[in-house]
Amino acid sequence: MVNLKINDMPVSVDDGVTILEAAQKLGIKIPTLCHIKLDCFHVEHRCGSCRICVVEVAGRPNLAPACCTPVLEGMDVKTNTLRAINARRTMLDLLLSDHPKDCLTCAKNLDCQLQKLAQEMNLHQVLYKGEQSTYNKDLSSQAIARDLDKCIMCRRCETACNVVQTVGVLSGVDRGFEAVVAPAGYKPLNQTQCVFCGQCVLACPVGALTEVSYKYDVWKALNDETKTVVVQTAPAVRAALGEEFGIAPGSITTGKMVTALRMMGFDKVFDTDFAADLTIMEETTELIGRVKEGKNLPILTSCCPGWVKFLEHQFPDLIYMPSTAKSPQQMFGAIAKNYYAQKLGIKPEDMVVVSVMPCLAKKYEAAREEFSHNGNRDVDIVISTRELADMIKEAGIIFNNLEDSKYDDPLGESTGAAVIFGATGGVLEAALRTAADWIAGTDVQEIDFEAVRGLEGIKEATVNVAGLELKAAVCSGLGNARKLLERIKNGEAQYHAIEIMACPGGCLNGGGQPYYDGDTTILEKRKEALYRDDKDQKIRKSHLNPSIQKLYKEFLGEPGSHLAHELLHTKYTPRKNW
Ligand code: SF4
Ligand code: SF4
Ligand code: SF4
Repeated sequence: MVNLKINDMPVSVDDGVTILEAAQKLGIKIPTLCHIKLDCFHVEHRCGSCRICVVEVAGRPNLAPACCTPVLEGMDVKTNTLRAINARRTMLDLLLSDHPKDCLTCAKNLDCQLQKLAQEMNLHQVLYKGEQSTYNKDLSSQAIARDLDKCIMCRRCETACNVVQTVGVLSGVDRGFEAVVAPAGYKPLNQTQCVFCGQCVLACPVGALTEVSYKYDVWKALNDETKTVVVQTAPAVRAALGEEFGIAPGSITTGKMVTALRMMGFDKVFDTDFAADLTIMEETTELIGRVKEGKNLPILTSCCPGWVKFLEHQFPDLIYMPSTAKSPQQMFGAIAKNYYAQKLGIKPEDMVVVSVMPCLAKKYEAAREEFSHNGNRDVDIVISTRELADMIKEAGIIFNNLEDSKYDDPLGESTGAAVIFGATGGVLEAALRTAADWIAGTDVQEIDFEAVRGLEGIKEATVNVAGLELKAAVCSGLGNARKLLERIKNGEAQYHAIEIMACPGGCLNGGGQPYYDGDTTILEKRKEALYRDDKDQKIRKSHLNPSIQKLYKEFLGEPGSHLAHELLHTKYTPRKNW
């Protein structure tokens, strides 16, 4: 242990701990901006570039950045000397001098950490005025908007993209006043290997990285009387939407969300969970087939468009491995436009399918050409959890006072297996539940596969599925996926099935979820909420969903049928690694 004093209070901490952490132990908050720590993923970004956290250390001529200065025995630290306060205010002032300050119209307004810091530090005027850096906005992709005039060079996005995800799109380019974080050669994002996971958006403390917003497109569709507008909501949305309305993290707000969507004017409110159950029907059929034949193993899940794009760029030689099943979002779109539209007696082009997703990559996925027929997309508009919250507020709906209501039939019926798709490990567990019943030919009672749960980046388990020993792995975060795939390529690991999600922790930590500013206890709460929701469902296995059974009976035939393949399966394309 190391013993030191902070503001004259003694504290003992482990060797290697920073002044910032030691102060936290005493309940002292030192302001930070570029620093971020994600405990449950063992990730910390501490470059010390913003100098907002400077403190005075006795005997040292210079102020020390608390986020990256390790404690030493006998250290005497003061966090609030006039010199430290003045230095922080000057740093903040200089940052603001090169910032557009258009807070009122910024997408990060009220979620911006620069704005919060200016408030907390009682900065009420900007002293330094002068030339500002200007860059072209990058609106090249369907998912992520980059407005580098707002970049404060904290480089948190670099850590997210290069260290956590190992995609390697973002890095510091140029020098001095021109310096900025961007893809090499200032390439627009859609001309890079970016997978649109949005982890950089979650990491960015200001409005430099945000989602491309489609809120107005939804309002336009809702006001078009010639269109039937249906909406689907993904599993992870219900476990996080409440946070935008001050409801405690970890609360499931499905009922209020459905009521709000109806009040906004959607003709039908459906659930992506229905399509998650459908995905399990197709994917499990493929899994059992491949295990029986002993071919093309391991099967990799294909629900996550961020992960799929990563594979296409980085591991094109493994492109035969993922299941060919479309993601639940795309299966929903295909069924809505080809089955449900038929039931309503309307043409697919007269239906608008809107998705509410925790995910920014889903905006890109919906626009992939594989998912359109004759120019008509299966999913027309994708908005994030955050955008839905904005729209509910814009519509004047008092979310917290709403009564609960239920999804519409038939595409609103789902099982517990579907709701856990929102957490890492959930897709594999759902598939194992169905595989166990199908292989044993009975209603297997042991359906909680605890070994594949939890936010750890890589989980491995050998699970007994009705007497068959299946070797499985679950991976979230693309850096972890890379490690696992390298081991498979080198013949160092063998599995039957692997679930991969691009976002660390899975979709509950998707790029479109409410910002949590490094407080990963919120992610734990979202995860627990999803498993609670699963436990509360009467039916917890996808193949027992009555509406799914009816869909196969009336329309698709068997899982893996010709029609199922035409509507519910896809192919992948090797892509350039820039
Ligand atoms: S969206 Fe993901 S892959 Fe793209 S730049 Fe951001 S972190 Fe990197
Ligand atoms: S884009 Fe955002 S996260 Fe990246 S360096 Fe700029 S301010 Fe920081
Ligand atoms: S893990 Fe979920 S939220 Fe993240 S990119 Fe994949 S599908 Fe989207």
